[in-house]
Amino acid sequence: MLERPKRKNPVLRTRLPTLPPAARSRIALGLTAAAALGRFELQQCRVCGTVQYPPREACQNCLSVELAWRAQPQGGELLSATVLHHSNDLFFRERLPWRLGLVRLDCGPIVVAHLHERVGAAPARVSVDVKLDRAGQAVMVALPSEENANMAEDRQLREFTCDPKFRKVLVTDGKSAFGQALVKSLARAGADLVWVGHAEPWKKFAGFEELKALPAVTLLPLDVTDSKNVREAAAEIGGKVDILVNNAEVHRTHGIANRAGVDAARAEMDVNYFGLLRLAQEFGPAMRSRGADGQASAVAWVNVLSIYALANFPPHGTFSASKAAAYSLAQCLRAEMRPAGVRVVNVFPGPIDDEWNQLLPPPKLAPAGLAGAVVKALQEGTEDVYPGDVAQEWLARWRDNPKALEKELST
Ligand SMILES: [Zn+2]
Repeated sequence: MLERPKRKNPVLRTRLPTLPPAARSRIALGLTAAAALGRFELQQCRVCGTVQYPPREACQNCLSVELAWRAQPQGGELLSATVLHHSNDLFFRERLPWRLGLVRLDCGPIVVAHLHERVGAAPARVSVDVKLDRAGQAVMVALPSEENANMAEDRQLREFTCDPKFRKVLVTDGKSAFGQALVKSLARAGADLVWVGHAEPWKKFAGFEELKALPAVTLLPLDVTDSKNVREAAAEIGGKVDILVNNAEVHRTHGIANRAGVDAARAEMDVNYFGLLRLAQEFGPAMRSRGADGQASAVAWVNVLSIYALANFPPHGTFSASKAAAYSLAQCLRAEMRPAGVRVVNVFPGPIDDEWNQLLPPPKLAPAGLAGAVVKALQEGTEDVYPGDVAQEWLARWRDNPKALEKELST
């Protein structure tokens, strides 16, 4: 069972972040792409059906190069287990002892997997999952075949996930329905403390009293369009934030032709794009320096983007453009946070059931559903999140043919 981390002694040095070995072949990145979406996919031969691991250029059975990444059953048999007490790798040396095993997957291949502490001695039935490690690369993790309570608290598994339990979280906007649902979900998931940003602190907002009454919540005046305010907030709490969720956004329903001038578009850019940039400049350095701060390190930065970041939705054209800009910047942030092992999670919701999507037909994502998806992504350690049916369907179309999605959204 995971215990609440002790208060840090400020005199002790902060451990510099180290990363597990990250070199992978280009082919192996297919596994990483699947893991980023939380999918268990392995290479499967289109000709003879052989499932293989590790990824290769050709089928190990028939030498065909017709290989596809396909979802596979996750069951397997633990053949042998071992405990590392020594490693020449800095990352693992700091985390010893470390348990590993060999698992024969029901779909064929034998894999090396990190072992959850509840997996008993070999032989044993296990469920294998693919997770991203701190270097952002896919690794195999063997879990007990039956789910049980507190499973997420395993010390080794926590190195691959960003579970909010016992962590300190900043949610940049608590005024929206989604922001409030998110704060409640994080509190339920065991977050130690949730700072809740609210712009224009002189104005009370609906739900303010309810949020204020939650024991984990501390309200924080935060306006992401105000550089000085963001800098002051970072100076005050930046060194303590383990997870930052940037959900502040401005959403207007304009294309180009139905609105004169650039004021509305500028307001969207100022929050959705420059807001992210300001936060990243002020909070990024402190979080990077705390990427290896024991069991409650800085672990994740979540950007709530939009499925319209992938292809423009003309009725919400300027909003889409601001989200596309934010998506691009988030990729830059991801590259800069990676050396510290801090994961950047990008969330691409379809239309949310809010004020700005009133004229769109259902299905629309309920704020509580979106909040649940964000917390689940943190708990499971996924990196790219497409919550809800609409986002899943558009992702499938976009992966299949980006041009087709552009066409469909524009008619
Ligand atoms: Zn084959």
